[in-house]
Amino acid sequence: MRYKAILLFGAPGSGKGTQGKIIGQIPGFFHSSTGDIFRSLDLRSEMGRVFWEYASRGELVPDEITIRVWRQYITGMEWVNQFHPDSEVIVLDGLPRNVNQARLLTSEIEVVKILYLRAEPNKMIERLRRRALKESRFDDANDAVIRKRMLTFERDTRPVLDYYPQDLVVRIDAMKSQIEVLTDILPELTPIKHEMDAAVEAADRAYEQAREAAAQNAVGKS
Ligand code: ADP
Repeated sequence: MRYKAILLFGAPGSGKGTQGKIIGQIPGFFHSSTGDIFRSLDLRSEMGRVFWEYASRGELVPDEITIRVWRQYITGMEWVNQFHPDSEVIVLDGLPRNVNQARLLTSEIEVVKILYLRAEPNKMIERLRRRALKESRFDDANDAVIRKRMLTFERDTRPVLDYYPQDLVVRIDAMKSQIEVLTDILPELTPIKHEMDAAVEAADRAYEQAREAAAQNAVGKS
């Protein structure tokens, strides 16, 4: 079974993480940020060192490693009952970040919508500088690294948009305030949630019918 996924798409500083965290609080949506997953690694572990090596230069972690780490994380979440793929949509934040990752993910996820958060580069750079002070992120602290991340987005990540059917892409004005951006995103989520709920109800009904039929069968035999 492929996981249903909404892609939160946008350059560094566009507000994907902020919106993703809020959306992840809504029942039926599970937020998964590859940046957060990488940052939770022990920097002394091998994976942690690989992450530091690339992220501190503003570069992407190699694709196979990224997909492997993400897959382990998401199956772990499923195992510990934090993520329920039958009734929840994954809100993917920071993945896929290039076309190769999009290809590698085709067997894992079914993309149902792409929310493309757009803002002017200067606005995003200003937000990253502010975040550097608040969250002490090593990759925000230096202007050269910020510039490199913006370039990586333009060169590697933006082409991901053309990889998917264009009718899935919704452009969101991310220059607005956080609450206004959220207000624009919410109507995009409602039909997805309704569809998911209808599928869960249909599966529950089918299960109940099968159980009743089995019970009748057992009575008939006794
Ligand atoms: P931002 O979007 O602000 O750049 P993230 O927290 O999404 O920040 O990512 C931080 C860093 O983690 C990236 O610069 C990159 O090195 C690494 N990273 C995150 N997601 C991916 C990915 N899908 N593929 C490769 N590297 C990634």
